[in-house]
Amino acid sequence: MEIKKVMVIGAGQMGSGIAQVCAQAGYDVYLNDIKEESYAKGLAGITKNLSRSVEKERMTEDEKNDVLARITKSLNLEDAAHVDLVIEAAVENMEIKQSIFKKLDGIAQPHAILASNTSSLPITEIAAVTNRPEKVIGMHFMNPVPVMKLVEIIRGLATADEVYSAVEGMTKKLSKVPVEVNDFPGFVANRILMPMINEAIYTHYEGVASIEAIDDVMKLGMNHPMGPLQLADFIGLDTCLYIMETLHEGFGDSKYRPCPLLRKYVKAGWLGKKSGRGFYVYN
Ligand code: NAD
Repeated sequence: MEIKKVMVIGAGQMGSGIAQVCAQAGYDVYLNDIKEESYAKGLAGITKNLSRSVEKERMTEDEKNDVLARITKSLNLEDAAHVDLVIEAAVENMEIKQSIFKKLDGIAQPHAILASNTSSLPITEIAAVTNRPEKVIGMHFMNPVPVMKLVEIIRGLATADEVYSAVEGMTKKLSKVPVEVNDFPGFVANRILMPMINEAIYTHYEGVASIEAIDDVMKLGMNHPMGPLQLADFIGLDTCLYIMETLHEGFGDSKYRPCPLLRKYVKAGWLGKKSGRGFYVYN
């Protein structure tokens, strides 16, 4: 099962990063989004990252241009007919992901693998809407994708061994480290990280300390490179809320209830760095 051509769905912060690392590893990539402006923003982000690498002499101008030439714009899901692997990185919402996978199942070639970069949603449930559950798998990249080494690879209930091996092999070609996990809400990374972030939000909500103080405690006291509230802003507060809701619903345990302040910020459109305002204000 050889992977040569890839489609990435969603040109947001994760999808653009995934497209970049795939193109840098020599794969031809369709970068798909429903919005033309989101594609343009995603490509601008990739170009900026690559230009920075040229400035730092980690890459030549020619290499940068070769990487960009391997990325093709796609505003039509039908382009999935040309690829061996689709990596979906649209919003963290089961209905949207299932609708995308159902369409992909009808478009992609029979051998094609359908992967999701979901942070927390069950792969088995996404796979169930397709006629190829054995070819559906989770590929959970970390943010920012070009920097972070880990990819959690999630086996759905029906995922075939050869599909797992193909995706594991490709992850290594991207110079990432694959870690195998099973399909439970939040997998490993977000089952542990997100309750900590949610608790940091509660700590602020209950007036225990200011935003800056909470982040300082975790940076200076626990040696975390970034405080939990700043990290929440980087991840996106909408994504944080979706993940907490998935944990809450999936385990039926009140310890995962999302903080009301998190809900309020998301309702206000304060989504963190990507919207210019979250716990902090961004230019
Ligand atoms: P984002 O909001 O930055 O980007 C989402 C993009 O998907 C947008 O450009 C939007 O236009 C596009 N989109 C929405 N519906 C679409 C559709 N039907 N077809 C094509 N494109 C569509 O979000 P993000 O932070 O990049 O997150 C994307 C996925 O990656 C989510 O499932 C999220 O849980 C997961 N994830 C996020 C992080 C993180 O730190 N943000 C980390 C790992 C995984």
